[in-house]
Amino acid sequence: MALPYNHHYKLSLSSLFSGKPISSRLQPICCLQCNSSVSSSPFTEKHSLQRYQRDRWVYDNNQRLSLNNNDHAGSCSIPPDTHSIRLNDIALQLPELRKLLQVLKHKRESCGGQVSRNGPGNVFLVGTGPGDPDLLTLKAVRVIQNADLLLYDRLVSNAVLDLVGPDARLLYVGKTAGYHSRTQEEIHELLLSFAEAGATVVRLKGGDPLVFGRGGEEMDFLQQQGIQVKVIPGITAASGIAAELGIPLTHRGVANSVRFLTGHSRKGGTDPLFVAENAADPDSTLVVYMGLSTLPSLALKLMHHGLPPDTPAAAVERGTTPQQRMVFAEVKDLADKIKMAELVSPTLIIIGKVVALSPFWRQSLKEESCLVEA
Ligand code: SAH
Repeated sequence: MALPYNHHYKLSLSSLFSGKPISSRLQPICCLQCNSSVSSSPFTEKHSLQRYQRDRWVYDNNQRLSLNNNDHAGSCSIPPDTHSIRLNDIALQLPELRKLLQVLKHKRESCGGQVSRNGPGNVFLVGTGPGDPDLLTLKAVRVIQNADLLLYDRLVSNAVLDLVGPDARLLYVGKTAGYHSRTQEEIHELLLSFAEAGATVVRLKGGDPLVFGRGGEEMDFLQQQGIQVKVIPGITAASGIAAELGIPLTHRGVANSVRFLTGHSRKGGTDPLFVAENAADPDSTLVVYMGLSTLPSLALKLMHHGLPPDTPAAAVERGTTPQQRMVFAEVKDLADKIKMAELVSPTLIIIGKVVALSPFWRQSLKEESCLVEA
């Protein structure tokens, strides 16, 4: 399969090691180079679909390497305790990380009496906003630039990853509908193992880490294990994209409230939208995250519960990035028009009278095509 991007390494946690970086001794798994010394970003995809393909490639590659590693597992002795099993699990999936962990552990042990004073490292849960790096907080930039290890999601944009320091290690732990490069439990274990080994670990999440991002679960897990978690907020997709489109989420006399909801159910069904009854309020703005697959059903239900079919609505793919694509339509037509335009995840849907305040709405009325290019 042709690769959608170059496959390289990030460098080692050199700030934690004395001596030479160990990157040259590591095998590639899923570390993607975003070194500023490299002129072009390894992420070349122009469209979400290509990013899916990139994710798929990274995932398949991880699986292959994990399997290869398992092939050699027969010669290994069985780990004696749960702690070792946990470390071994991670190591099986990510051989390079085992090496890193070993170096970190060795370094800590060789510090002798200082070990107890060093304590575990910090974990920062950092919101990176919807994609435009200019929407990062100053705090987020500082933490990203000083991190040893960064775990990032699919929603974290290439431009944000370009800010990562040259000595940091980047690890992709993205999840896409249908496949996850890491399970949530694996992500928990990775964060814990590296924090325990003393690294400054940064967990990058698109938007705000505590809005539909499972950041709360990661925070909860780590705190229960005695690891300090610092949360750095990000601009959630609703705010970033509404601003980009010139849509006020609330507006006197038009919308007196705004509601963020997810189109997904925990069980993954296609009909999780029991909220439609309460959400069908013409004086409120609805922002739907992860709503592409369930939109047809949501729109019908909203109209059934009294939302006027001509309520203005917008769908925005990869909002605030150079690849942003927008579809405007009345709620009754939105699902069809999204389909025609072939929008894919990540797409945010905004429904409510406030959408008509956007200059793009007026433009879309003039244009025959419903797809408005930014
Ligand atoms: N924590 C994130 C949301 C994660 S849920 C936040 O606060 O924004 C993932 C969903 O967010 C996507 O399916 C999509 O609906 C929305 N989303 C996030 N970033 C987006 C972007 N740049 N463009 C469009 N939708 C986005």
